[in-house]
Amino acid sequence: MSGAEERIDQMTFTLGQVWREMRVSCPHPDLLLAWKEGSLEPGASDYLEFHVNEAECPYCQAVVEDLERRGKDAAEESALLEELRESLLSSTRTFLRDQKK
Ligand SMILES: [Zn+2]
Repeated sequence: MSGAEERIDQMTFTLGQVWREMRVSCPHPDLLLAWKEGSLEPGASDYLEFHVNEAECPYCQAVVEDLERRGKDAAEESALLEELRESLLSSTRTFLRDQKK
């Protein structure tokens, strides 16, 4: 590694540290979500990629983790609700059919 590269590396490290300590330029959670979903413009997604993966901002990493967890839970939850709705509907149908007898 050349001296210049080392300096750049050092700079990146320092920048990451500043971000970690001050939470400078932390993107809004909505942006993090858009980034995770891949719906961000390339320039913006590069920035988030750097912020979260290179600078390893713990705040944003936590937000991303939380979004991923909640995203999964929300999907599971809606599947569960759909199931519940279906079983309610079918038991209602059975109930109504029984009433007519
Ligand atoms: Zn951040």
